[in-house]
Amino acid sequence: MTRLRDLSIRRKLTLLMTVTSGLALLGAATAWLAIDRRSHRMAIVQDLDVMTSVMAQNVAPKIDDGTQEDLRKAIEPITNRSDIRRFILWNRFREVRSEYIIGNQQMEELPWRTEGTYDTPLGLAVYSPIKQRGDIVGMLVLETDLSILKERERALIIVFFAVLLVSGSIAFIVGSRLQGLITLRLSRLMRTMQRVSLQNNYSERCTVHGEDEIGQLAQAFNQLLGTIEERGARLAEDSRELEARVMERTTELVEVNRRLKESKRIAEEAVAAKSMFLANMSHEIRTPMNGILGMNDLLLATTLDETQRGYAETIKGSAVALLAILNDILDFSKIEAGRLQLESIEFDPRSIVRESVEILQEPAMSKGLKIFVDVDSSVPPVLIGDPTRLRQVFLNLVGNAIKFTKQGGVSVRLAARDTEGEETVLVAEVEDTGIGIPGQRLDQLFKSFSQVDASTTRRFGGTGLGLAICQELCQRMGGDIDVTSVEGLGSTFRFHVRMKIGEEALEPSEQERTGDIAERALNGLRVLIAEDNPVNQLVARRMLETAGCRCEIAWNGRQAFDAVRDQHFDVVLMDCQMPEMDGFAATASIRAWEAEQTDMPRHVRIVALTANAMAGDRDRCLAVGMDDYLSKPFRPEALYATLLTRTTRAA
Ligand code: ADP
Repeated sequence: MTRLRDLSIRRKLTLLMTVTSGLALLGAATAWLAIDRRSHRMAIVQDLDVMTSVMAQNVAPKIDDGTQEDLRKAIEPITNRSDIRRFILWNRFREVRSEYIIGNQQMEELPWRTEGTYDTPLGLAVYSPIKQRGDIVGMLVLETDLSILKERERALIIVFFAVLLVSGSIAFIVGSRLQGLITLRLSRLMRTMQRVSLQNNYSERCTVHGEDEIGQLAQAFNQLLGTIEERGARLAEDSRELEARVMERTTELVEVNRRLKESKRIAEEAVAAKSMFLANMSHEIRTPMNGILGMNDLLLATTLDETQRGYAETIKGSAVALLAILNDILDFSKIEAGRLQLESIEFDPRSIVRESVEILQEPAMSKGLKIFVDVDSSVPPVLIGDPTRLRQVFLNLVGNAIKFTKQGGVSVRLAARDTEGEETVLVAEVEDTGIGIPGQRLDQLFKSFSQVDASTTRRFGGTGLGLAICQELCQRMGGDIDVTSVEGLGSTFRFHVRMKIGEEALEPSEQERTGDIAERALNGLRVLIAEDNPVNQLVARRMLETAGCRCEIAWNGRQAFDAVRDQHFDVVLMDCQMPEMDGFAATASIRAWEAEQTDMPRHVRIVALTANAMAGDRDRCLAVGMDDYLSKPFRPEALYATLLTRTTRAA
């Protein structure tokens, strides 16, 4: 079936015509054969009928008493006919008087029957009565094998097949010619379609011949091509418009992009300028602050009467508060500039809590507040992280708790959770019984420069930066900070930070700072102070001399280099910014000179003293060969601790 379907139309048409004409011919031939057979049979029957009637008459007088010879003679004429196969003659008693079979074939017996024509296994039998004066005196039967009829049929069938062959061939030839009328036009149409689809040329049209179905198909196809061509033209027009618009937009975007880049460059320059300004400001403010704090400390160490001591303590308090604000602003600008860097050193978390509480003990006691500390045993003894920044978070939260609490107390809790392998999560809580924070202000709290209400600044001071810095620090340490509070009842600040667990037990000198050990170790230490500011020279000298050190002064880098080359010093305190030769160049020269002294290896300990507290300064100092770094203004304890630390701390 599929194979028939896949045949070309040309083949199908030819097949159709041939099969149709063949079938028609077959039908006609079959009908003709049937009619012919019937009429011939009738003719045979009639012929036999006549013959038997004549024979019956001839035989009638001899039926009863004629000899066999008489009877044979009477029927002689029929024995010549090849189609007669048998004849039987019965007398009135139905006794066979004579029987004659042509050819010696085995034949079934024929029974007596009344007048008429009957079909027999061989062919036909015609029964005819023998009459004498109206009485039936016997019966004669002639049997034929219808061979004439069969021969005629055979001849007819041969003729029919010959005609079928001839007419089939003619139908095939004529059909092949005629189908060209259809298939030729169809294939022309198909070729046009193929060309259109291959070349995408929709302006092409088919030639239309006639109005028949193929003609209509060609017309419909031409219409379709027309529609496609029109649509294509419209599309091309649209796409040209679109392209033009895209070009326009691209040009605009390029321009916008250029302006954006320019704005970004200006903004970056502005940020850089701001950072620079902050660094400079910080330097400019820190230098005199060092003088104020240092000289005030020296002043407090002298014999003063009650009033003078009171004034000096007030100066100290104000200077410390000013320094705290300065530190907040500096931290904030570092965060904004993305330059806040965290240390990664071993420390004892318990001592961080203890120190923070100790520092704030005095303001708490002056308000009659108690500070409770609870450090859980889950907290590892040594952690690796940035202790200074962790202390800063504690100081800020505990400081705020004390600041905003009139009565009651402040609880500080520390624990560790999720300790797995080398890591742990430190969780801390600072709870107070203070004024609390209104619910609607809670989510504003960690934004920079945010204070619960404007009067806070007037009543309690502060910049509104502390909590923003705390949040940034906690997040940078892999954690976060949160608060819950009930107005009038108190607040609880909670934070967690992720830290590595340290292995080594810390040396006592790292934890304990000063006191007797310091005095003993520092006594007699030879220190070169390279510093151009006379106030700072005096501050450093007094601090060092109080601890028993012997000091020399260099006013610039060149003098410092000469001094190191000519004399022995245990430590050089090197200011970074000095006239003529700065601290970086001086250090580089000293290290270069030391490297040349092959006979006697030397390495003088150089500690940078700088007001440049921005990130990167420390790295720069260590990169040129300094051993440590102390940022101004520094407290005597910090100076002594730095002098005592013999090893260079990891950056
Ligand atoms: P500030 O330097 O002004 O204290 P913070 O960021 O540390 O800046 O605090 C922002 C504001 O949050 C404070 O001004 C205060 O209004 C509120 N606040 C902080 N801690 C507490 C607290 N423990 N109790 C009540 N209010 C607090």
